[in-house]
Amino acid sequence: MTDCLFCKIANKKTPAEIVYENDKVVVFKDIHPRAPIHLLIVPKKHITSVDHLELQDKELVGELILAAQKIAKEKKLNGYKLIINVGRSAGQVIDHLHLHLLSGEPAQLP
Ligand code: AMP
Ligand code: ZN
Repeated sequence: MTDCLFCKIANKKTPAEIVYENDKVVVFKDIHPRAPIHLLIVPKKHITSVDHLELQDKELVGELILAAQKIAKEKKLNGYKLIINVGRSAGQVIDHLHLHLLSGEPAQLP
């Protein structure tokens, strides 16, 4: 996993604008924002994509969505989108599971 960008960000080996973190999840600003608020919610554990989730990861998936809810509440977001791209043909370019949180107009789907 050493050459995985999001593992490096989670391990603070590569800088990112981290806005929230707990023991399981890290959240940082997308470097090419598609909306006024565009955050990436990332498990600290390396999981390549939704296709690579195992039954034991089901609690972690809940953690990702609850992190989104927490940030949305804290930022008092008036609605938001949560998007997961799975596989190249769906636009996944980083092979480490992540949830896009987008809020505000104009928004373009990542
Ligand atoms: P996806 O296309 O779903 O794999 O999303 C990957 C996202 O990661 C894209 O929206 C990129 O803009 C974003 N991204 C790539 N490199 C970085 C980085 N170093 N820091 C923050 N976001 C990044
Ligand atoms: Zn990784």
